[in-house]
Amino acid sequence: MTIAENIKNITMKLSPAVRLVAVSKFHPLECILEAYSAGQRVFAESRPQELYAKVQSLGEIARPSEASSGAPSYSDIEWHFIGHLQTNKLKLVLPYVSMVQSVDTAGLLEAIDAWGQKNGKVTNVLLECHIAMEETKQGFSADEIREILLGDREYPNVRFCGLMGMATFTDDEAVIRSDFSRIKALYDEISAAAPGHPSLADFKELSIGMSEDYMIAMEYGATMVRIGTSIFGPRQY
Ligand SMILES: *Cc1c(COP(=O)(O)O)cnc(C)c1O
Repeated sequence: MTIAENIKNITMKLSPAVRLVAVSKFHPLECILEAYSAGQRVFAESRPQELYAKVQSLGEIARPSEASSGAPSYSDIEWHFIGHLQTNKLKLVLPYVSMVQSVDTAGLLEAIDAWGQKNGKVTNVLLECHIAMEETKQGFSADEIREILLGDREYPNVRFCGLMGMATFTDDEAVIRSDFSRIKALYDEISAAAPGHPSLADFKELSIGMSEDYMIAMEYGATMVRIGTSIFGPRQY
């Protein structure tokens, strides 16, 4: 199956309210171009240097070398960042993305806010919630998320758009459902409190679901699914 066919098949299965985020990490630029030709506009990367390199390359091929080249500008691509972001890499990422889905520490949140203050950009973020059984996965606890979103500290250069989570890596569907139901409950709790918090005016995204579990994620209110392998095939590490 081609990338275009994969996108079409997945899109047909998504409810209209769910946005497909194409996870292009570890896939070459040609794969992004193929997905773009098929109409895909939202892409996600997980490594700062790789995101930066792809954005630069796209800029170069978009720049028409001859008046007649007719190359698309690619300026309508929306980049999301979904990986671990170190505070010394912000400049490779923040100027280019429309959302950081993987904010997983208070230090990173503060650094994004400070970067935005200096550079005049309000960054859309999702807080990554630790829902999986694996200790190794990243993310805040539910209490840490409550403290950030409902507490007193303000982050004027950050727009809190919702939550992101990764379920446990398992074939046991009951475990995946339990992971998703916990993040959905937290999402609902924060959404219910949002009217009293001006900083939560844009809190509406629940980014859950990947290649293996996005159909389940939709049952738990996913507004975005992040799909790599089912679109692009196995990653080329
Ligand atoms: C790689 C990645 C995905 C995509 O995973 P697939 O199983 O290839 O669909 C989704 N979300 C995050 C945070 C990732 O790092």
